Amino acid sequence: MTEIFRHYDSATVGLVQSLLESEGIVTLLRNDSTSSSSVAVSDTVPTLCVADDSQEKLAVSFIREHFKEQNDTDGDEKVCASCGEKSPSNFSSCWNCNGELP
Ligand SMILES: [Zn+2]
Repeated sequence: MTEIFRHYDSATVGLVQSLLESEGIVTLLRNDSTSSSSVAVSDTVPTLCVADDSQEKLAVSFIREHFKEQNDTDGDEKVCASCGEKSPSNFSSCWNCNGELP
């Protein structure tokens, strides 16, 4: 199982999950808030994982493609200072590394 997407907004994570499932990629939604062993703030961030590690690259490429299409329609995007990935302008944190966006 490999983590591929993490976002504070569970609706965004759900959207990505349905996108990947529609492409035949089996995903697992992990929300660490159910864990009793840790109380870190980041534990409440929903995380999407691929069940089959060999599909990781494929899944990531679908996610990139999806957000690229969104960018094409609204013509605006933010570039992450941490990892260099582009996120839609309505995002407050990077889709890839969850870093803060300008
Ligand atoms: Zn980033």
